[in-house]
Amino acid sequence: MLNVNILNAFEDNYIFLLECSKTAEIAVVDPGDADVVIKALNGRELDKILLTHHHYDHVGGVDRLCEIYNCDVYGYKGDKHRLPSVTHWVDDGDLLKVGDRSAKVIFVPGHTLGHVSYYFAGDEALFCGDTLFVGGCGRLFEGSAEDMFNSLVKYKSLALSAKVYCAHEYTLSNYEFALKMFPDDRSVLEAKKRAIALRAKGLPTVPTTLGNEALSNVFYRAKTVEDLARLRCAKDKF
Ligand code: ZN
Ligand code: FE
Repeated sequence: MLNVNILNAFEDNYIFLLECSKTAEIAVVDPGDADVVIKALNGRELDKILLTHHHYDHVGGVDRLCEIYNCDVYGYKGDKHRLPSVTHWVDDGDLLKVGDRSAKVIFVPGHTLGHVSYYFAGDEALFCGDTLFVGGCGRLFEGSAEDMFNSLVKYKSLALSAKVYCAHEYTLSNYEFALKMFPDDRSVLEAKKRAIALRAKGLPTVPTTLGNEALSNVFYRAKTVEDLARLRCAKDKF
């Protein structure tokens, strides 16, 4: 089994600490802040670092963690010029392991041109970085709406029950935007209610599931590139 521990970092980032329950091997996804990870490890060894993309809030802690721990670092091979300390360059479709758990690399350009996600099929766990958010999707800093659309389509072949570990807590503002665009949308209203209840208890709205996003995420629901582009433009100005 893959245990996932959600760590808070910076204002609204999540860092994910993964542990294979059988082998006790530990990996971290997108360690933007080394101190947060070191504290959570609490004396244990870090074996692997998985990177989704080059932004500082996702890679800022990598060099320091590599100084302290003897760990492998996985990153997308098309981003060699801007990912730190990577030891294993990965491409779309590559498999990697955390203990006895397997993850597939899924290339998902859009937010950046070198963005990947990691899908543990046996655990139905997707680490999507800044591609998909609860109720939202990543900003298009480098890629086009078409890139993002095609990236989101790739997620649609995964299990609807798959848990989605998004790297930011942007949920409530995403739902506010969605309701501005679709004021009477029942699925969004329901999802917003659930999110408010979680936040009121100080809990993350992450993970969501792909099934939930298929219902209540207006970006993930978009049927055409044009629809997605229109929503993304409107959200950028929201
Ligand atoms: Zn980012
Ligand atoms: Fe980010």
